[in-house]
Amino acid sequence: MRILIVEDDAQLARGVASLLRAAGHAVDHVAYGEEALSVAATEPYSLVILDVGLPDIDGFDVLARMRARGDQVQVLMLTARDGLDDRVRGLDLGADDYLRKPFEVEELEARVRALGRRRGGSEAAPEMRIGTMTINRSTGRVEVGERLVELRRREWAVLEALAARAGQIVSRETLQAEVFGFDDPVGSNALEVNVTRLRSKLAPDGPAIRTVRGVGYMLDRP
Ligand code: CA
Repeated sequence: MRILIVEDDAQLARGVASLLRAAGHAVDHVAYGEEALSVAATEPYSLVILDVGLPDIDGFDVLARMRARGDQVQVLMLTARDGLDDRVRGLDLGADDYLRKPFEVEELEARVRALGRRRGGSEAAPEMRIGTMTINRSTGRVEVGERLVELRRREWAVLEALAARAGQIVSRETLQAEVFGFDDPVGSNALEVNVTRLRSKLAPDGPAIRTVRGVGYMLDRP
C-alpha cells in the first residue's frame, strides 16, 4: 500500500515509517495538516495515518475536509491516551479505525494489515488466487503452485498493485505512484527493473506480466 503519515512528532513518524517500509509499503510523511490535505489530493494513498494533534489544523479538521471533498481513503487516527471523545469524534467524522498513543508497533502493524484486507473487500479472506498463484496479503506469502516465491518489498508492491487489477492494464504512472513514495531513491527505470525481476520469479509456471507498450503493464488472468 502507499501510506501517508501525518504526524509532527518526527521521531515517532520516522519509527512508524521505517516499520511500514520494512513491511513492503511505500510511505510518505508530512507534519502539517494543510500539507496532508494537499498531498492527499494528488497522490493515490490507500491509507492515511493521521495524528489528532498537529501544529496547524488538527487531525479532525483534516479528516472532515477530506471527507467533505469526497476522499474515501482509509484513515487510521492516532488519539491521545484518554481521549474517549476523540475516538468517538474521529469515527463520527469517518475515520476507519483509531489507535491510542502510546501504542506498541505490533498493534499498529496489525491495524494496518486489517485495514489493507478491508480495502481488498474481503476481510475474512486475505488470499487472492490468480491462476496457479496465491497471494496472501496478511502474511505477504506468494506461492506459485507448491513453490514459494521470495519477493523483495518493491517487487511485492508491484505484484500487489497488478494483482488487484489482474486482467486490466495498469498505467506506468499509476504503478509508479502506488509503489514509490516521495523520498524513495528511484531511478527512472526502477519500475522496469522490479517488473523484470518479478516476471522472472513468477516464470515459468506463474501468471505472465505483459508489457503494454507506451501504456503500462498487465497481469494475465488465466
Ligand atoms: Ca502530534
